[in-house]
Amino acid sequence: ALSPVITIDGPSGSGKGTLAGLLSRRLGWNFLDSGALYRLLAFAASNHGIDLTNEEVLKMLAAHLDAQFVPAEGNRPQRMILEGEDVTEVIRSELVGAGASKVAALPAVRDALLQRQRAFREAPGLVADGRDMGTIVFPDAALKFFLTASAEERARRRFFQLKAQGLDVNLASLLDEIRARDARDTQRAVAPLVPAEDAIQLDSTKLSIEQVLERILDEVAKRD
Ligand code: C5P
Repeated sequence: ALSPVITIDGPSGSGKGTLAGLLSRRLGWNFLDSGALYRLLAFAASNHGIDLTNEEVLKMLAAHLDAQFVPAEGNRPQRMILEGEDVTEVIRSELVGAGASKVAALPAVRDALLQRQRAFREAPGLVADGRDMGTIVFPDAALKFFLTASAEERARRRFFQLKAQGLDVNLASLLDEIRARDARDTQRAVAPLVPAEDAIQLDSTKLSIEQVLERILDEVAKRD
């Protein structure tokens, strides 16, 4: 039988990645950060001088992407290895994120990454976060969440996150980037960012990560 899946979809900065990671560790389940796959692909393409609109070549790169996810252990978060190099931090930049949203708009690329994502579904279960986890990749998921937050709040979170990393950032330009990425992700023809019909919607604008995790764990407990 297929292992159970919990999906958490939503825009960038909604907190879904952090929450999915926390939830997977709480449950002792596997974790898929699907956005990281698109980021790895965009980063690899840039390194190899591949144009981010070249669908044919990107499709092949996606099918053969030499990437490994090393699961979190203890206090060490999950790490991503691309072509033998640890790229966990570099793929988090706004530049790579923007590239990811470009390659993610190409149907052949999404298709090439589908099986790779479904392969994360292993015992005892999977928590998957992204944009289309509940709609396309795992439509039969046992429990689906759609996490939102205002663009202003998401820009503010990103601002403090980058500042903490010692980066020189500008709140207004972060807000512009978030809005541009939202527009690309929600308006694209394939797998646009929309809540699954059976998703539980949570607005995290005024909630802490801990408060949202409580809400999610309440729903998980109800299904047990
Ligand atoms: O979640 P994250 O910000 O890492 O995702 C980067 C980009 O990858 C998103 O802006 C989106 O365009 C794309 N993505 C996607 N489908 C997913 C996950 C991410 O299209 N399931």
